[in-house]
Amino acid sequence: MDAPVVDPNKFLGFDAPVLAHLGQKPEMVVYATDDPRLWVELEPNVFSRPLFFDMVTGAHCEMLRVLGGGSLGRHKHSSPVHGYVVKGRWRYLEHTWEATEGSYLFEAPGEVHTLVVDKDVEEMITFFYVGGSLTYMDDDDNIISVEDNLSLIEKCREHFEKVGLGGDFVHNFIR
Ligand code: FE
Repeated sequence: MDAPVVDPNKFLGFDAPVLAHLGQKPEMVVYATDDPRLWVELEPNVFSRPLFFDMVTGAHCEMLRVLGGGSLGRHKHSSPVHGYVVKGRWRYLEHTWEATEGSYLFEAPGEVHTLVVDKDVEEMITFFYVGGSLTYMDDDDNIISVEDNLSLIEKCREHFEKVGLGGDFVHNFIR
């Protein structure tokens, strides 16, 4: 087999798909890195590192990182969410439990919640598989904005352009 196709920046790689002639998409490995340019700021202190955008189902995978406390606005999910807390801890204003380091969590479609990382948590990192869109709402359920793969990719494009990786860098994470 040929050597993996590796991005010039060495952030990720993949092998040519064996069944490419049948339309099979390549798999993907996104390597660990300390490069701060991969983190896209969503809110003050709140960053997302894109890993995978599925343009067929509308799902995506990301790492969410919060430094020194912060929150992700009140939102509703169109599809299931799976998460795994890699570092630190966080909670939802609407729930009694806390997601601690090493915890797995599932969120059902329709779930409305506000993610909060308390100030005493220096760094929080959680892996999320997000099955669909997030609808951000105010406390009276008025819709503020809808975040889906297209709007996220647009956000990533702007960020990667700004930090010198180029807007098209985001294409590496799309299948
Ligand atoms: Fe959520």
